[in-house]
Amino acid sequence: MDCIFCQIVQGCRPAAKILENENVLAFLDIAPVAFGHALVVPKKHYARLEDIPIDELSAVISVVQKIGPAVQAAAAAAGYNVSLNNGPAAGQVVPHLHFHLIPRRTGDGLQLWPQNRYDEGGLEKMAQAIIAALG
Ligand code: AMP
Ligand code: ZN
Repeated sequence: MDCIFCQIVQGCRPAAKILENENVLAFLDIAPVAFGHALVVPKKHYARLEDIPIDELSAVISVVQKIGPAVQAAAAAAGYNVSLNNGPAAGQVVPHLHFHLIPRRTGDGLQLWPQNRYDEGGLEKMAQAIIAALG
């Protein structure tokens, strides 16, 4: 069991736990983007979003929805980002599916991603490519 989050779930590694139920564990990120930054993980090991059965994902999202306002309140924040890095190219370092919950304050300076513009026709072309990939 070399997965850090599996070790936390099994109790072999310490964590500041926030909420635990049969299928889900929420705990504080050890290196927070903002104080109160929390992680919500399924207890079973799945690497990516597309790997987890929908009922277990639903249980995970339920916990995200439940703890969000509490994280915001405890961090004296005005909102929060919910994010999931799906795959190493997307910044996923720990290969155990997890949602980040990051408290935000107006003007806190945290920059989200830059945006691009499609070339003429590129928007429709991309939509068609995704529809084709859906099969
Ligand atoms: P990601 O880049 O989406 O895979 O995020 C992994 C997150 O896990 C990072 O924000 C780390 O700070 C956090 N992390 C790594 N090890 C631990 C740990 N032992 N306890 C709590 N959070 C951790
Ligand atoms: Zn794991």
